[in-house]
Amino acid sequence: MTARIIDGKARAEALRKEIAAATRQLAQAHGLVPGLAVVLVGENPASQVYVHSKAKMTVEAGMHSVEHRLPETTSEAELLTLVGQLNADPAIHGILVQLPLPKQIDGQKVLNALDPAKDVDGFHPMNAGRLATGLPALVPCTPLGCVILAKSVHASLEGMEAVVIGRSNIVGKPLVQLLLAENATVTVAHSRTKNLAEVCRRGDLVFAAVGRAQFVRGDWIKPGATVIDVGINRIPKDDGKSRIVGDVAYDEAAGVAGAITPVPGGVGPMTIACLLLNTVRAACAIAGVPLPAMGIRPG
Ligand code: NAD
Repeated sequence: MTARIIDGKARAEALRKEIAAATRQLAQAHGLVPGLAVVLVGENPASQVYVHSKAKMTVEAGMHSVEHRLPETTSEAELLTLVGQLNADPAIHGILVQLPLPKQIDGQKVLNALDPAKDVDGFHPMNAGRLATGLPALVPCTPLGCVILAKSVHASLEGMEAVVIGRSNIVGKPLVQLLLAENATVTVAHSRTKNLAEVCRRGDLVFAAVGRAQFVRGDWIKPGATVIDVGINRIPKDDGKSRIVGDVAYDEAAGVAGAITPVPGGVGPMTIACLLLNTVRAACAIAGVPLPAMGIRPG
């Protein structure tokens, strides 16, 4: 069997177009321009690349984009002051503090200081709790993108066996909540799970969010399963350069799975599109106007 490739890049582009149309409608009908502030502390090269593409796509979607680049030596108090200013700024509806933060800053303290209504990453305990209890919430972007991609293959996830490998607050745990909300039967595997290959083979849907290059092997996949690979790992190439691979051994898994996301070009582009979606949702909620109709369900 050769798996269908789930084109996350194309799906993300389509979603960004829908968001741009919604943004135009909000400007015309309500004079509302969603605004996203991205805060980057330090010089982490991967974070710089992400922040640059986030800002570019925010503007392309017709939104107001603000970038704050602070030095590596920024104190926790300085960052908290900036968060307070952004919380109070009426032109800003979404605030994203790029992780990881330098050692002198307690990341959880910063997340706790965000106005939950502007927490477009969905990492504030209030949003995590609302998601877990089934209340409307701003939902973390990467898991939201994963579910949208799974639903591009299966109209309904109801009753499907979903295996999530990874239990981080950023990906694994919120993904579990979203899958439960879709009425999937969810198994969460993690670093202490026994017989991982066997557990993984239960999955009609497999979500790999481990952070280890090509960790999930082809013979861990149930024939015909849908595989969503969240991993972004840099590995060396023979020519001394490097390339990006996922947490799944792609060639092996693609020979067994029914559908699979590539890396790059799978979950990654969906994450930024979902960030824009969350910014529009936040802007509508703050302004008290209805979210324009879009082809996808925001989760
Ligand atoms: P994390 O390090 O916070 O969590 C990794 C999880 O994997 C942990 O819960 C751990 O229990 C589990 N794990 C570790 N070793 C394991 C093992 N041997 N067996 C089973 N489980 C094991 O990582 P994260 O932030 O959740 O990210 C996971 C991956 O997703 C990384 O590759 C990261 O780069 C990628 N990521 C991608 C995007 C995107 O936009 N595509 C966004 C966030 C993270």
